[in-house]
Amino acid sequence: MQIQIKRGEELETFEITKTNATLLHALYEIKNNIDNTLTFSSNCRSGVCGTCAVRVNGREELACAYKVQENDLVEPLNYHEVQRDLKVNKEKARETLKASTAWLKASQEVAISQKNVHATEKQTDCILCDACYSACPVLAVNPDFMGPFALTRVYRYTSDARESDIATTIANVQSNGIWDCTLCGECTAVCPQGIDPKMDINMLRGTAAQLGYMDPNYQTMSFGGDFGGF
Ligand code: SF4
Ligand code: SF4
Repeated sequence: MQIQIKRGEELETFEITKTNATLLHALYEIKNNIDNTLTFSSNCRSGVCGTCAVRVNGREELACAYKVQENDLVEPLNYHEVQRDLKVNKEKARETLKASTAWLKASQEVAISQKNVHATEKQTDCILCDACYSACPVLAVNPDFMGPFALTRVYRYTSDARESDIATTIANVQSNGIWDCTLCGECTAVCPQGIDPKMDINMLRGTAAQLGYMDPNYQTMSFGGDFGGF
């Protein structure tokens, strides 16, 4: 079977013998038997650590979970500095967690119910694979957008019963945050953990509205001219 791998500006074709194998197995076959300079990231090899995310035929996948197919085109994640071949630097994407201030600000002692735990259980499963970040079309036009995984984490902490200062966190995601999302759902479609950042961002918008914020796009939007008071 043949697959293509983007290496710098070039596409390189490799012949692999493994069938019914994961993409990660195929990458190791190439590295061990054909070209030991092929560079990619992997760690747990079992879909837990989020290290090996790449794009396959334009869609984000974990290499350790994806079954390789004939003529697959494998590329590094979008919006990340490519260090070599499929290996990317995730530092810039991690900065979004700082920008969004996605952590507890003023924790209070409360009894945590099963319902509280359940409310943010899914978001807590994020493995920081960056698949959603790579899939988000907004980052192509606004590199400062906080992006889906940071905003999902913001939802996780603003929904935490221990947090007594939701207002500060919501204020911190007004610019390059919740209103910049187009709610396209691309992030949700690629998340290997079944997290729904689009829904989380929508929920954050609801919380922001309750705190008196509104979509800044409405303030600049034209509705067809002056209606003269009618
Ligand atoms: S729903 Fe929002 S955060 Fe998710 S990919 Fe679309 S624009 Fe990006
Ligand atoms: S939300 Fe999902 S796709 Fe995004 S970083 Fe977390 S696990 Fe990966």
